[in-house]
Amino acid sequence: MGSFYVTTPIYYVNAEPHLGHAYTTIVGDALTRWHRLLGDDVTYLTGTDEHGLKIRQAADAAGTTPQEFCDRIAPAFQRAWERLDIANDDFIRTTEPRHHAAVRELLQRCYDAGDIELDTYSGKYCVACEEYYTDDELLDDGLCPIHKRPVDHFEEENYFFRLSRFQDRLLDWYAAHPGAIVPEFRANEALGLIRGGLRDFSVSRTSLDWGIPLPWDSDHVAYVWFDALTNYLSAVGFGDPAQDHTQRWPVDYHLIGKDIIRHHCVYWPAMLMSAGVELPKGWAVGGWLLVDGEKMAKSTGNVVNPLDLVDTVGVDGFRYYVLADTTYGSDGDFSYDGLVARYNADLANNLGNLMARVATVVAKKCDGVGPAPRADSPLADAAAAAVAGATTGWDAVSPSRALEATWGLIRATNAHLEANEPWKADPGAEVDAVMGDALEALRIIAVLTHPAVPGTAAQIWERLGMTGALDDQRIPDAVSWGGYPGGTDIVKGDPLFPRIAS
Ligand SMILES: [Zn+2]
Repeated sequence: MGSFYVTTPIYYVNAEPHLGHAYTTIVGDALTRWHRLLGDDVTYLTGTDEHGLKIRQAADAAGTTPQEFCDRIAPAFQRAWERLDIANDDFIRTTEPRHHAAVRELLQRCYDAGDIELDTYSGKYCVACEEYYTDDELLDDGLCPIHKRPVDHFEEENYFFRLSRFQDRLLDWYAAHPGAIVPEFRANEALGLIRGGLRDFSVSRTSLDWGIPLPWDSDHVAYVWFDALTNYLSAVGFGDPAQDHTQRWPVDYHLIGKDIIRHHCVYWPAMLMSAGVELPKGWAVGGWLLVDGEKMAKSTGNVVNPLDLVDTVGVDGFRYYVLADTTYGSDGDFSYDGLVARYNADLANNLGNLMARVATVVAKKCDGVGPAPRADSPLADAAAAAVAGATTGWDAVSPSRALEATWGLIRATNAHLEANEPWKADPGAEVDAVMGDALEALRIIAVLTHPAVPGTAAQIWERLGMTGALDDQRIPDAVSWGGYPGGTDIVKGDPLFPRIAS
């Protein structure tokens, strides 16, 4: 039990929320729901990145002010997360006063430490990345390696953060904090970037007015990364004399995509070192959800709107798919056929079918009243194994492993029913024993599936006649064998997951 603080990247409001945003946000939601079950005091933060050249350009194109443009798009993210049952505790927008205060405070501290200095920069710049590139970083034809589009030549006077001074300190820190970045192969990528040599990076622009002015030189506004990264501190009161950010900080996990390792695992800890702020406890780096093998992007036209998929498979069908189908850290390949196949196999045929057959047999053979489970049930070991596997999986920020372990109990319970065929037997002690075991397994399944499919888990909990809210349950008590008391009315209800024709 303790505090548990998790963040998603803040999402750039130059486009509507897409599958990639939804993926990371659902992973964070499931992880933090698990930690709430553990009794941790959870803060789950997401939000929107609202400054920078792209927003200025998008606003100009839409014939509106940047603030009006952001005010129009940011709620689309908030609505999407409500629709996807995301239980974030806070939603930060970088145009908020609390964020401006935090950015000014962090900049001033780094400036006072002597790590921010004025210099002239000229180089190749990708507007979409908001990043300078050296020639050897560009593709052979001179295109941006991320966007595969031409870069511009920029020259301007900027303030620079002296990242080059932090190589040894960063390497020492990571050596002293093994396992801070998961999965391990992503940690190796970050260390490779640091060992490869660090270049100072620009923290300001004079060519742009849509941003936060530097506290010591208002001709410059803060460059997008210095601005954006600081949101993780703004939300916990950094820069506000009335608040103590160390109540929540350091963060337990920054959830990030593999494309922003450099900014989160190299720039950010160096900025914090300079400012005298404690470093994060962890980073969990996810891969991309590819669509037909390509990163989803507005420019490639393969953007999948997650809310369209919810109309087909339901909120929980979609959440389960993105959590179970991709090993967090690696790339996943999204396909509609894969979504429907997994929905039918794991949700309709396994979880949904288990609830339906248990309720049907209890109605027919037990007068609709659930018998109590046996203390020495053959399913008790399967339940203990599922709990252990789920715990290991969530601890490692590996939702797919946690859910594989959880589904192990669902499969074991279905197998237990098929082996005993209570639907063929006469009512009596034997049927009662088998059904009591299955009901207890379903009760534990409701708790274990709550992080991934909260709406469905709550329905199972209710249909079993359990009292109290499911999200008030606490692990380990709530997943110890024998918690189903027996004697409740079991409700069949509609199918949890109607099969989808594929
Ligand atoms: Zn680019």
